[in-house]
Amino acid sequence: MRLGVAASLVEGTVLPGDVSVEEGLVSGLGLSPAGSTGLAIPGFVDVQVNGVAGVDFLSADTAGYARASEALARTGVTAFQPTFVSSPVEVAGEAIVTLSTLDGPLPGAQVLPAHLEGPFISPLHHGAHNPRHLLAASTEVADALCALGPVGYVTLAPEIEGGLALVEHLVARGLVVSLGHSDARADDATAAFDRGARAVTHVFNAMRAWAPRDPGLAGVALSRPDVFVTAIVDFVHLARETVRLLLTTAGDRLVLISDAIEAAGLGDGTYHLGDREVVVRAGEARLADGTLAGSVVAIDQAVRNLVSVGAGLELAVGAATRVPARLLRRSDLGELRMGGRADIAVLDGSLEVTRTLVGGREAYAA
Ligand code: ZN
Repeated sequence: MRLGVAASLVEGTVLPGDVSVEEGLVSGLGLSPAGSTGLAIPGFVDVQVNGVAGVDFLSADTAGYARASEALARTGVTAFQPTFVSSPVEVAGEAIVTLSTLDGPLPGAQVLPAHLEGPFISPLHHGAHNPRHLLAASTEVADALCALGPVGYVTLAPEIEGGLALVEHLVARGLVVSLGHSDARADDATAAFDRGARAVTHVFNAMRAWAPRDPGLAGVALSRPDVFVTAIVDFVHLARETVRLLLTTAGDRLVLISDAIEAAGLGDGTYHLGDREVVVRAGEARLADGTLAGSVVAIDQAVRNLVSVGAGLELAVGAATRVPARLLRRSDLGELRMGGRADIAVLDGSLEVTRTLVGGREAYAA
């Protein structure tokens, strides 16, 4: 099957020519004749999404996952990590069990192992997480949760009791550890990155504030070439100038995350994030006290936002495709390559998603 596109984004470079797909795999790139419009890019990989289209993954059932996967495909996402905020251990456990029972491929974006955001985070920077559910870092609790189903990624605060030991433990188990919701000073952050933590979670949000002689987690993450920097580029969580700063400091280590909640794709109203009530108004999701509670941005909008502050197309798309795939050590995701999985989004001239293929299957067409 030919996609009829004018070009594709291959290894970070625009390659003129059409793309073909056979049996779920990319079978041709740079083919002539090219179509007149359309850019085929790797499907987006969202490593932090709590929900979408009325579905909160923490309480979703199989039908909910199916609905959410279709909604994500409409925004060009082809793979996502359902993300669970701090919750009672039984509730997180049930959500992980549900994930383990999903049978066969979802109709839209494919689900990746879970991202546990908490409960091992700082009471000083819990953000919208319910502080009642926070725990000291515990390898026993973490192992018990991981035993229930697929968990691939944990956001934790390294400076809390047991934090560094938990970083080492999870890294040794092959999980991706990201640091966030944290009051870490530079030495705490450095110690955790030296022990294998790979990323910072929604940089500058829910962490010790950067200061000249106290750069904290954000300062250390930005200064280290081995650390991935995840960011919510909705211009609510980060000012435009801050995003420009990230472009120059993080560059090809920058990872766009949606951190979307169930309200994403819907309108203003009252929604939930775990057991917290969230009010969405004018693109901002907040608790009653005004605390930001996730976002309602879709990844494709975040890519356009990044371009709007001066990022090149290649870097902006890379921040939602090849870089998160590298963060996850998933060489099968985030790139268009001959013989690779045909996870593809097609963008028009305004960088709007017009079509999404997941494993070569048409998951969305405008
Ligand atoms: Zn968070």
